[in-house]
Amino acid sequence: MIRIISLDMDGTLINSKFVDMVWMQGIPELCSKEYGLDFHVAKEFVVGEYMKIGSDRIEWYDLQYWLDKFQLGVSKGELLKKYEDEIEPYSEVPEALELLSESFNLVVASNAAREFIDVELDGLNQFFSKTFSATSDFNEVKKSPLVYQAICRELKAESFEVLHIGDHYIYDYESPREAGLDALFLDRKNNRAGREVVWDLREAFEKISGSI
Ligand SMILES: [Mg+2]
Repeated sequence: MIRIISLDMDGTLINSKFVDMVWMQGIPELCSKEYGLDFHVAKEFVVGEYMKIGSDRIEWYDLQYWLDKFQLGVSKGELLKKYEDEIEPYSEVPEALELLSESFNLVVASNAAREFIDVELDGLNQFFSKTFSATSDFNEVKKSPLVYQAICRELKAESFEVLHIGDHYIYDYESPREAGLDALFLDRKNNRAGREVVWDLREAFEKISGSI
């Protein structure tokens, strides 16, 4: 019997606008000012540095690492605050969370760093009993089956009592299933079909309430 629903954050609850602005606008803009470079030149330089690190390394996710590396005199909090108006949940999210929270304990399992989770979920906090960051809490860059097992332990839940929903086929669908959880793959682009594929979270709610 499912009693906990775990949700991915970026691409599942919140669209990519805010995260894109921080990394692709905010940091390049600060570099452009700091080093007197044209914005596009600064952006090309910054993106090149991102790519040298790559998403398999923990630094990729660590805003402080990048602020230090480029010697930018702003705090993480200031930078995130600057773009907070860009934080935008997908349109069906508040209603779907309202419905799901009537029957389930809701948590978030994201690979974003803690500071992003805290800022991005500020307006949806009331729905979640706990949030987990693979990078900040478990020192893992991707949500491996081990991360899902650790989350179940933290929640004092058996894996079969937890259902995870997210938009990455491997890390939000295959990986939790490998750890023994139930999972739904959220395919907002409508590319896949199947019993465990949903297009939005409203459909996920209907699927979950229909099958229990
Ligand atoms: Mg995602």
